[in-house]
Amino acid sequence: RNSAEKFEFQAEVSRLMDIIINSLYSNKDIFLRELISNASDALDKIRFLTLTDKEALGEGDTAKLEIQIKLDKENKILSIRDRGVGMTKEDLIKNLGTIAKSGTSAFVEKMQTGGDLNLIGQFGVGFYSVYLVADYVEVVSKHNDDKQYVWESKADGSFAISEDTWNEPLGRGTEIKLHLRDEAKEYLEEGKLKDLVKKYSEFINFPIYLWATKEVDVEVPADEEESSEEEESTTERTEEEETEDDEEKKPKTKTVKETTTEWELLNDMKAVWLRSPKEVTEEEYAKFYHSLAKDFGDDKPMTWSHFSAEGDVEFKALLFVPPKAPHDLYESYYNANKSNLKLYVRRVFISDEFDDLLPKYLSFLMGIVDSDTLPLNVSREMLQQHSSLKTIKKKLIRKALDMIRKLAEEDPDEYSNKEKTDDEKSAMEEKKGQYAKFWNEFGKSVKLGIIEDATNRNRLAKLLRFESSKSDGKLVSLDEYISRMKSGQKDIFYLTGSSKEQLEKSPFLEQLTKKNYEVIYFTDPVDEYLMQYLKESFKELTDWWKKALDTEGIDSVKISNRLHNTPCVVVTSKYGWSSNMEKIMQAQTL
Ligand code: ADP
Ligand code: MG
Repeated sequence: RNSAEKFEFQAEVSRLMDIIINSLYSNKDIFLRELISNASDALDKIRFLTLTDKEALGEGDTAKLEIQIKLDKENKILSIRDRGVGMTKEDLIKNLGTIAKSGTSAFVEKMQTGGDLNLIGQFGVGFYSVYLVADYVEVVSKHNDDKQYVWESKADGSFAISEDTWNEPLGRGTEIKLHLRDEAKEYLEEGKLKDLVKKYSEFINFPIYLWATKEVDVEVPADEEESSEEEESTTERTEEEETEDDEEKKPKTKTVKETTTEWELLNDMKAVWLRSPKEVTEEEYAKFYHSLAKDFGDDKPMTWSHFSAEGDVEFKALLFVPPKAPHDLYESYYNANKSNLKLYVRRVFISDEFDDLLPKYLSFLMGIVDSDTLPLNVSREMLQQHSSLKTIKKKLIRKALDMIRKLAEEDPDEYSNKEKTDDEKSAMEEKKGQYAKFWNEFGKSVKLGIIEDATNRNRLAKLLRFESSKSDGKLVSLDEYISRMKSGQKDIFYLTGSSKEQLEKSPFLEQLTKKNYEVIYFTDPVDEYLMQYLKESFKELTDWWKKALDTEGIDSVKISNRLHNTPCVVVTSKYGWSSNMEKIMQAQTL
């Protein structure tokens, strides 16, 4: 175009674009999430401006805070449009031609030696990922303070900007037109785009629409049938005028399939976790759960916990107990490193592969954590080590265990509810048996927790259930067992075997039942091992040690199998300073 002004990209941008355009990087999908994320940011910005300036929002369609995706198969153009804040001419030059953020050059450096392009968004250069799939990109943008402009580039070291006199006026916002490369034709398929939006952008807080084809049934007059079937092009028909009691006309009409195109909403789910728990209905929680975990059928989640944490580390979280354990939950227990938690930072999806958000024994939980405290502009690896994550993890575990405890408390079948009146119990009726159900699906996780998580061992022990010689097929807790111990009974009796039936016939049982002792049946191979962790017999000794060492600021005293000849050892806690570090710190304070 004659009127276009030409600009050179900043050298660093040029270098980055070269890397991207020549990249053999296989996960090209990421461009869409970057564009949607930018659109969402722009919408956030205009929404914020509107708080102080109502006029900024505009009127009619312009006021609709939404994202639209459109495909032009013929010309191989994919467009993403938002009604966000838009960019002035100056913005276009600055934002899509230079790199403002620090750390980017390190990223470019890294990319040249084969770094992970997936990180691009975190370095503030996500926009340029469009060149993974396009060889020519146009950015049409209209900001409230300026005219409509077109930015365009073929990633050849320069870009051009022209005042837009030929496109449809946007009102306000930005439309990115990607002229797709031949190898990127898959992004012209509606199904592919729907999948990608679902995968990466489902919880964007603005509606994302796709201009999608849809098959509809249309009634056509029978005599026009032939001609209408030959019609290939998209037709929008209004319903045939037809009265129901018009018997004569009926046989003369026929239903045919026709293709129409309409805006299809791809992300109908709101960011449930950001809303106040009081405002979210059970139905919505269930729906949200299903969108998180499609594999689990139509069953509702057993329970959930929705909370926000304040203080040094702020985050909102929504945790679900699934209705059923996935079949491979324990099979893959020791090599799985994928948690079912999605981590968001300020509503931007970061990862669902942070194995350190929850301990393994709670990996059956599904949910979302959205933190305001975590930085967005660091690599995943750095984020994974961010100190806030430890605090988040600690709080998540507490909340998760509380949620499980409540499952039991609300269940009228549970022993702990024996003080409740019948009225109270009948009010709890719909929760009847829910803890047993939980125990059947996830009991093993509680046991593994007792073994692995010393900090929460007592809390977990309260969640433990088993059958016993007196439980009559029901589940018993340790509390219940203890409450009905015979006077003078000092030990908890348990028998291990492969099944309840086998244990009931055990000769060991005879003596004890005769004396009216209750005996716990342990039928899970892990049970006996578990008991080692619940041993109270060393309590006196450990208590004495703790008292004796208290002035030294000792955390805890534990019985361990780790030593052979040495009687005891002082160790640092998991996250504590090593003794060497301790010395260094001491030297510094002197
Ligand atoms: P980041 O989003 O991390 O800032 P990007 O490379 O994705 O980095 O985008 C660069 C800049 O371009 C954004 O900061 C924003 O100012 C501008 N921009 C990109 N897309 C849009 C858009 N759809 N609407 C308004 N501004 C945009
Ligand atoms: Mg971005």
